[in-house]
Amino acid sequence: MLAYRLSQDAFFDDKSILVIDKLKDKGNDRTWCFWEDGEGEWDDLLTKTWPKIFFGSTSFSSTISISPYSYKMIRSEVFYNALWETVSAKPNFTFTEDTVDDFKDLNIGVQVITEKGTYVCSKLFNSLPNAKVYASQKKFPVLNQHFLGWFVKTKQQLFDDSIATFMDFTVPQKENTRFMYVLPINKNAALFEYTLFSKDLLDYKDYENAIIEYLELKGIKDYEIIEKEKGSIPMTSFKFSELNSKNILNIGTAGGWTKASTGYTFKNTSKKTKALVNFLKTEGDLSKFHKKTKYWFYDLIFLDVLAHHNEEGAQLFSSMFRKADVKTIFKFLDEESSFIEDLKIILAVPPKRFLQTFFRRLF
Ligand SMILES: Cc1cc2nc3c(=O)[nH]c(=O)nc-3n(C[C@H](O)[C@H](O)[C@H](O)COP(=O)(O)OP(=O)(O)OC[C@H]3O[C@@H](n4cnc5c(N)ncnc54)[C@H](O)[C@@H]3O)c2cc1C
Repeated sequence: MLAYRLSQDAFFDDKSILVIDKLKDKGNDRTWCFWEDGEGEWDDLLTKTWPKIFFGSTSFSSTISISPYSYKMIRSEVFYNALWETVSAKPNFTFTEDTVDDFKDLNIGVQVITEKGTYVCSKLFNSLPNAKVYASQKKFPVLNQHFLGWFVKTKQQLFDDSIATFMDFTVPQKENTRFMYVLPINKNAALFEYTLFSKDLLDYKDYENAIIEYLELKGIKDYEIIEKEKGSIPMTSFKFSELNSKNILNIGTAGGWTKASTGYTFKNTSKKTKALVNFLKTEGDLSKFHKKTKYWFYDLIFLDVLAHHNEEGAQLFSSMFRKADVKTIFKFLDEESSFIEDLKIILAVPPKRFLQTFFRRLF
């Protein structure tokens, strides 16, 4: 997305830009969803949009109209192809399929060591995961949003494709925060994603069994699995920005652009890359790009609660969806809320744990 934005702006036409990735053709390795108010930049690439979402738990369930927002889905192959078409047309961009082993800010530039050779550049934008760094610290808990998804096709028309199941916590919680996420593409096909917000990943079979059980519970017996998707997204308030330097900026998940409390990254990346392109026109020190906001602290408290009381996630989200308006929740998670709106969310979650955690972090 950053390469695409740089290629679209004539300001960078005289810069020589190299994109290194160990794999260019990644196909449908991700299904990205996000909510958006009205029309958006990526609308031509969407696979599906939903005007309503379903939230479910044992204490509160509701189908909610999210207008003026809609929930949007992009499949990665269409996205990669469309963006590469624009980038490849620019003569100042080169792509090389290579594996990066190491990189270092030498102050006068950056050295990048790959399997095939060594490069020197003036600025590096790095999206390689740096899990060891945040896994080895104790200050900020690291949860994972981990999931397995099955694209399921049925002969009968079994799905209401006007509703995306955002979170269904009616699945057994087993001392964790576990939910099912269901995205019907049409009346005969849907993505069922068994998802956890927790520290440890499960055995592959456990995700599969949970999807099988859920399908059975919903009376879906005769189905074909047409595709599978698996992922694990870090959820942490670790200060990724401290890994940036004058000439190296970590971007995407590696740069902390994943919303720590939800794992959503796509829309934030869309906003950040736009801001970054403008920043680069006037500023040379990449370590100045990051700005700390109040949301860093909100996410920190939220993740502390989930890390220490992982079994209470269902109750926490249920309380939020029962008491707060979904549009306020979306605005808050998009980091675009006013202080009054923040208060509405803060008052919608069970206070005990949050107050305990808040005071623990404060002192
Ligand atoms: C299956 C899945 C579904 C997701 N769904 C959503 C969603 O619905 N909504 C949302 O907001 N977010 C979602 N996310 C989170 C996030 O949007 C994606 O992970 C997103 O792709 C992150 O972008 P990125 O650029 O940080 O990393 P990536 O897209 O993972 O890009 C990193 C790149 O680095 C390359 N690479 C890795 N190691 C090396 C190396 N040593 N040398 C060279 N190249 C290397 C990889 O090939 C890859 O192309 C999802 C993530 C996954 C995994």
